[in-house]
Amino acid sequence: MRRALWLLLLGLSACDRAATAEPAPEPAPAAVPAPTATPEPQRPPDEAKATDDAEPPPPEGVPGGGPDPRTLDGSASTSIGSPTEGSLRGGVPLPLSGPGFVFNPRKDPERRHGTWEVVRALMDAAAAVDEANPGNTLVVGDLSLERGGDINGHASHRAGRDVDVMFYLLAEDGSAFDAKAIPIEPDGTGVDYKDLTTADDDVSVRIDVPRTWAFVHALVADERNALGRIFVVEHVRTMLLEEGKRAGASAQVLERAGHLMCQPKFPHDDHMHIRFFCAPDDIEAGCLDTAPVFPWHRKRLKAAGVSAKLAGPRSTPRPTLTSTKDAAQKKREEVGAFDPAVDAFLERRKAWAKKPKTGRKYCR
Ligand SMILES: [Zn+2]
Repeated sequence: MRRALWLLLLGLSACDRAATAEPAPEPAPAAVPAPTATPEPQRPPDEAKATDDAEPPPPEGVPGGGPDPRTLDGSASTSIGSPTEGSLRGGVPLPLSGPGFVFNPRKDPERRHGTWEVVRALMDAAAAVDEANPGNTLVVGDLSLERGGDINGHASHRAGRDVDVMFYLLAEDGSAFDAKAIPIEPDGTGVDYKDLTTADDDVSVRIDVPRTWAFVHALVADERNALGRIFVVEHVRTMLLEEGKRAGASAQVLERAGHLMCQPKFPHDDHMHIRFFCAPDDIEAGCLDTAPVFPWHRKRLKAAGVSAKLAGPRSTPRPTLTSTKDAAQKKREEVGAFDPAVDAFLERRKAWAKKPKTGRKYCR
């Protein structure tokens, strides 16, 4: 119920919010006390840890079933067509959990299929973050359906090359917070409003910037990954790039991350939407990319003896996704009145939902 609330309020626009998504936004008082303590690894990743010596070792297997992606290669899957009108052959299911990540347990597991390249990239990046700095878990949202195609709540996510990932989050005391789609404000805080009509259940969080950057860094720095876009709200983009500089990332990674990350019209303040380019063998099978094709990616393709084919204008009607404003209005009528904190948040949100504040152009 509440989920549906937020869903309607925040989402269903452009890129990507799944019909079964969660979250709740809210206004955070400007000065939510931000704990400065380094987060302790208080919540181990979701895999069970054998603590009882008497227990037999857990059976081998892939959580959720399906092949172990580490035993496959790029020939397992083929992305056909464009992210907005395409489909997927041989979709590889992201395991429901693994080192450093979990597929959002609130989601339909059918929505966790991608190309092998995407699944491998996610698993490797999450594992790298976990290994370097254990104690928080990446929550992965929708990828595509097994065969791709139309997927409720998204305009894209059709060809196995789009994935939504939540920001790593921290609770007020600095401990890991079970991540969900909670909008992050320009000061890095957010509130899980839950029931939108009352403030009693509100929980303050903040984005775990070092880990979220570490994940982006792991993706961008891995030359095997053909990243096309990282859709994310402008102020989180800025935080991540600043963290990258602070953490000593190379000029090349910072430059590429700066080009890859951008805010589309739908703000993406509660998750990142990551899109991958077509793999070279998929291009030959009909995979279509969208501009811009970055020079470093063009070079890679050239080395593989192919060049990108770009999708033309949409030939099928764009799915009708409810606008945030209309959805908020409708919900307000339905529930009577929101907790004033929610109204205040929605008011503040206008500042970044409409336009990237730095004057950078929206990306597509
Ligand atoms: Zn998305």
